[in-house]
Amino acid sequence: MPIYEYKHTDGFSNDCQEVEEFFHGISAEAYTKCPKCDHAIQRIVSMPAKHAESMKDKMSDKNLSRLGFSKYVKSSDGKYEKASGPADAPSTLDRDAMKQNLDKMGV
Ligand SMILES: [Zn+2]
Repeated sequence: MPIYEYKHTDGFSNDCQEVEEFFHGISAEAYTKCPKCDHAIQRIVSMPAKHAESMKDKMSDKNLSRLGFSKYVKSSDGKYEKASGPADAPSTLDRDAMKQNLDKMGV
């Protein structure tokens, strides 16, 4: 379930911060009252900072390498250089060469 950020618009109790995060289904109605303190809240339409931060960590070169993925960065038209990844992964990729290989395989 996705996590949503809500901002209290009409005060909040000691149990809450001004901005709270709650889980609920995508199709569920947005909360209008805080489930914790019952004060009015409004959903903030943005990716919660914690989530954005964790995505950044997950997609970091270091973590991708750890999971065995290679990351390539476009260097020029149709050419990609390895930014991170296993030592046995090719250091460059060439779009045209890959396309020729796929054509040969009949894909
Ligand atoms: Zn609250």
